[in-house]
Amino acid sequence: MPTRSARAWAAESAASSLAPASIERREPLPSDVEIDILFCGVCHSDLHQIRNEWQNSIYPLVPGHEIVGRVARVGSTVTRFKAGDLAGVGCMVDSCRTCDACRRGLEQYCEPGATYTYNSVDPHLGGPTFGGYSERVTVDEAFVLRISDRVDLAATAPLLCAGITTYSPLRHWNVGPGQKVGIIGLGGLGHMGVKFARAFGAHVVLFTTSPGKVADGLRLGAHEVVVSRDAEAMSRQTASFDFILDAVSAAHDVNTYLHLLKIDGTLTIVGVPEQPLPIAAFSVIGGRHRFAGSGIGGIQETQEMLDFCAERGIACDIEMIRIDQVNDAYERMLKGDVRYRFVIDMASLKQ
Ligand code: NAP
Ligand code: ZN
Ligand code: ZN
Repeated sequence: MPTRSARAWAAESAASSLAPASIERREPLPSDVEIDILFCGVCHSDLHQIRNEWQNSIYPLVPGHEIVGRVARVGSTVTRFKAGDLAGVGCMVDSCRTCDACRRGLEQYCEPGATYTYNSVDPHLGGPTFGGYSERVTVDEAFVLRISDRVDLAATAPLLCAGITTYSPLRHWNVGPGQKVGIIGLGGLGHMGVKFARAFGAHVVLFTTSPGKVADGLRLGAHEVVVSRDAEAMSRQTASFDFILDAVSAAHDVNTYLHLLKIDGTLTIVGVPEQPLPIAAFSVIGGRHRFAGSGIGGIQETQEMLDFCAERGIACDIEMIRIDQVNDAYERMLKGDVRYRFVIDMASLKQ
């Protein structure tokens, strides 16, 4: 299959930092869209996978699944995009399209497994798929999202993962007016969880380990912010929540939060800490609580979320970086020092 090389930044092993690399991208097939990447968000999942914390990484690994760019070329059967259009790519670039999950628009739960934007086996070229820390990407139009030309493109890029991963569970569990909703962790996902829960009309409580983020939590839309290390403040919240979304990237005690649910309340985890989290039976038995999970969101729902954000003026709070600052950005991310998403300006790849 004909390919063209593209500049990228890659990790060669679980122990390496990211460094410049050259990758091959396929020339557009009839249903493909070729996108020149303008911005790519930095998700904590990028770091988990670079360091093989989920024990499934294949190298070289080019991360990045919060991609916004401009269409360069399209294949002969593409109908929804033309050269010059804005386009987005999230966590998936393909799926089987025929299983029950795919037919329901839940490609993220595709039975044989979706093809992820990076760190999957590339069905066309073999070897790993390569993500958005690169100058260009070729994706089947069925997995390309439309981006409004009225939005801030850099601040929109992280919606492709942090946005949909919080929007989808809040919608699925019908978060809305009259409900008390908790968001745990004010990082990339958490800050979008706060914005969406507020936009959907709930009473929003942010839980953070960082006293320095209290003012930001209120500014971003939380009605209350609780510093989770304050045991007394935590106990005042006992048995009062309809729904809690857990967006923490590292080990933490979920039992503490399960006790904050009302009868029949649900705690949904989207964070993926490296190690399993112990749950005491009494944390779910008392109050008939539910502990659930949620993965990103389907393509149709991702488009719905992007359109909702464009209409309502919702975007991410970002700090723009150059690609050569990405390794330092990971160190800051590990310390919880992100306000609230790093976004790479891809023009810096060519400088
Ligand atoms: P992030 O920006 O690094 O934010 C994580 C936040 O968790 C931090 O800002 C911090 O918030 C809190 N935190 C960190 N370490 C903690 C600790 N030891 N104890 C308690 N709180 C801690 O990460 P992200 O990009 O939002 O991603 C969050 C998690 O979601 C990651 O594990 C990522 O892989 C996962 N993820 C899952 C999906 C999915 O489909 N389910 C999709 C994308 C990402 P405070 O300072 O406020 O405490
Ligand atoms: Zn992500
Ligand atoms: Zn499928």
